[in-house]
Amino acid sequence: MIRSIDALPLSDNRVLLRVDFNVPLDDNRNVTNDRRIGESLPTIEKIIREGGKAILMSHLGRPKGEHKEEFSLKPVAQRLSEMLQQDVPLVPDCVGTEVERMVSQMKNGDVLLLENLRFHPEEEKNDKGFAQGLASLAHVYINDAFGTAHRAHASTAGVAEFAQEKGAGYLLLKEVKFLGDAVDNPTRPLVAILGGSKISGKIDVINTLLDKCDTILIGGAMVFTFLKAEGKEIGSSLLETDRVEMAGEILRKAEEEGVELVLPQDIVVADKFAEDARREIVSVDAIPSDMMGLDIGPMTCQKFVELITEAKTVVWNGPMGVFEMEPFALGTRSVAEGLVLATRNGATTIVGGGDSAAAIAQFGLESQVSHVSTGGGASLKFLEGKELPGVKALEEQNIERLNGE
Ligand code: AMP
Repeated sequence: MIRSIDALPLSDNRVLLRVDFNVPLDDNRNVTNDRRIGESLPTIEKIIREGGKAILMSHLGRPKGEHKEEFSLKPVAQRLSEMLQQDVPLVPDCVGTEVERMVSQMKNGDVLLLENLRFHPEEEKNDKGFAQGLASLAHVYINDAFGTAHRAHASTAGVAEFAQEKGAGYLLLKEVKFLGDAVDNPTRPLVAILGGSKISGKIDVINTLLDKCDTILIGGAMVFTFLKAEGKEIGSSLLETDRVEMAGEILRKAEEEGVELVLPQDIVVADKFAEDARREIVSVDAIPSDMMGLDIGPMTCQKFVELITEAKTVVWNGPMGVFEMEPFALGTRSVAEGLVLATRNGATTIVGGGDSAAAIAQFGLESQVSHVSTGGGASLKFLEGKELPGVKALEEQNIERLNGE
């Protein structure tokens, strides 16, 4: 059982809130995409409204355990204070006497942001002492950082053991609900679309989805390892030589289990990996030996959109082609548009984070699907059916078990 923020005693209490403010910054250290900050606002505003004191903590980038100014959360504190329309002081560290002093002066409804957790190597080591130090700042601990929930770090896992009261924020609850229902309790047909550069990072998710989905559509560079397993010529397309056998096994397993696993029928090939490459649309049976596949072809786009719009639940993870280059973005755009149509037909449509989230944002279609996850790695782990340490740590029976040991 995980307690929702709605069931936690916020009023008059200090609330330590783990958020995922790992946002992209430009060279001048301006926040270029504040979606993750925006997604955490309902939880922060709830704490303020209830008269709690919100102590926010996050990581940013990979400072590797050292205080490095370029990884400071200063620009985030600034953006957050604009979004909340209230002052959000940045504490120069996340543990220690200055933190304790500033926390002790907080009034109900105040918000503080602690400096980057990863300035301390203890964070990623899930160090007990460090976790205890964080927990001691507050009475209540809330995790709302779905994007980091697949990591067992001090602020996502260790801290929960020492928290007097703990639970999940609205974003974490929303993510777990959408992704959990999609794989465990979907309205059928359930269609998954998988793409991206490599099979290797997605073997587990493909295997899990084979047991759960009615249809799996495959795009992206991983297509070519599957085509190779079918004995086809793939030219100079990306190939994971050491995964060909596994791809063959996945194809066999799909057939055995009666899952419709759909590979592209046509491919956009190019003579080089560049925007101004010479392009051709070819059948998967006729990929020229000196060209590389960089997107799914138009016939495949049409077929994929048809299957997506017939679905009642859709999960999408990974682009269909090199969408960052306009000439190879059509496959990814078609899938995104397919999700929009499916949503209009009443389907639940979910975009796993990472590149697919970036793609749907690039096409301006983010708001027209049911859910865009804020966590790439975390959503993949979730779809693999693995327990996320940041979620598991919030389970109440866990406390009893740890105390009873
Ligand atoms: P991943 O990180 O594995 O999800 O892969 C995402 C990346 O795969 C994106 O940056 C795409 O540009 C890239 N990608 C998709 N399709 C292809 C392809 N056919 N050839 C090379 N790269 C691709």
